[in-house]
Amino acid sequence: MWYFTEEQRQLAQVCKDFAQNEIAPKAEHHDTHETFNIEAFKKMGELGLLGITADPEYGGAGLGATEATIVMEEFGKACPGLTLSYLAHSMLCVNNINSNASAEQKAKYLPKLITGEHIGAMAMSEPGYGSDAVGMQCKATKADGHYVVNGNKMWITNAQYADTVYLYTRTGKDKKDLTTFIVDTKDCEGFSVSKEIHKMGMRGSPTGELSFENAKVPETNRVGNEGDSVHHMMKNLEIERLTISGISLGIAQACVDQCIKYATEREQFGKPIGDFQMIQKMIAEMAAETEMMRSFLYDSCKLWDEGKVSNTRAAMVKLQLPKMATKIALDAIQLHGGYGYSREFPVERLMRDAKLNEIGAGTNEVMIMIIAKNLLREAAQR
Ligand SMILES: Cc1cc2nc3c(=O)[nH]c(=O)nc-3n(C[C@H](O)[C@H](O)[C@H](O)COP(=O)(O)OP(=O)(O)OC[C@H]3O[C@@H](n4cnc5c(N)ncnc54)[C@H](O)[C@@H]3O)c2cc1C
Repeated sequence: MWYFTEEQRQLAQVCKDFAQNEIAPKAEHHDTHETFNIEAFKKMGELGLLGITADPEYGGAGLGATEATIVMEEFGKACPGLTLSYLAHSMLCVNNINSNASAEQKAKYLPKLITGEHIGAMAMSEPGYGSDAVGMQCKATKADGHYVVNGNKMWITNAQYADTVYLYTRTGKDKKDLTTFIVDTKDCEGFSVSKEIHKMGMRGSPTGELSFENAKVPETNRVGNEGDSVHHMMKNLEIERLTISGISLGIAQACVDQCIKYATEREQFGKPIGDFQMIQKMIAEMAAETEMMRSFLYDSCKLWDEGKVSNTRAAMVKLQLPKMATKIALDAIQLHGGYGYSREFPVERLMRDAKLNEIGAGTNEVMIMIIAKNLLREAAQR
């Protein structure tokens, strides 16, 4: 972006180089085999990226939404699956602990998560409660010095690898009686990964179901007070929606780059397909849409960094960027013809990966509900 600072440009370059050398060459392999590029993930810790928004006193980089999104964009171009795991760790787990946990809890958990010694996950969704997350049923009951947790958590990114889970539970009858805990998975009797989930896209990101059967979680691992969870959820929503949209931007840009390359190399009727006006139209529109996505996203990140982004704006970004990335990825397949539909070119993988962002972290329909509700309420208050 034209207004990026020198430091932000340098960060983008470091991430781009790392993505090209360490992530992109293995993206297809991890997609095909549904495996996790843990080596690259750990190296992100060495680069200081795993705690990008966390406080420096715990080893974090202390940066904002713009920088976190720069990382998502650059990594997203190379392997959206691995980037989703990076997002679950750095934004859904680390950033949440950094924003909501006590100084003792931060000192205990953040340093190892930030170096990459430990891997993090965030568990909110359940088999029966996705969009209606506040209806969750996973229950924590207070006992002597600890809580007993019972229930299941579904669709959890990094489940199979997580040492630390930022867990949402129900602690009372009222819909909003929700309480958050930090769970040490290796140290928690009654905890297990009950299912590995196989997916259409984002296959380089492990996803699983977590099961808690009379699992004992120390009271000292409760984040804040009982009933604070809804407040915790709301506090981090905007940055989560902006940064996941960075992955969509990376996918769109990767598609544009692939299409330009292919249009100059592939010949039909004795000339490069890029000479045909219908192909030119596709490329021009894709590129223009990607630039529009970039401006809208980074403009919104800048607002977040200045403390000015609204819930409506973040939902608008999360609605538009994932939708546009899926459309661009589908166009990219069309431009590649039969090869686009095969596994010989990355656009097929990028399309499967793009679709997830229309579902995860709140579906398109939920974003529409939020935007419309906010706009109509504001109008009624005027
Ligand atoms: C790959 C992957 C990774 C994920 N990672 C995590 C993670 O790390 N942690 C975590 O907690 N969760 C995670 N999720 C869960 C994700 O956030 C949910 O899938 C999402 O919130 C939607 O919930 P659901 O799948 O239960 O769909 P549902 O809520 O059952 O929705 C089904 C359909 O109904 C629509 N719908 C629902 N309510 C309404 C309404 N009121 N009006 C109109 N339409 C409606 C939805 O938009 C959707 O089209 C992940 C999901 C996936 C697929």
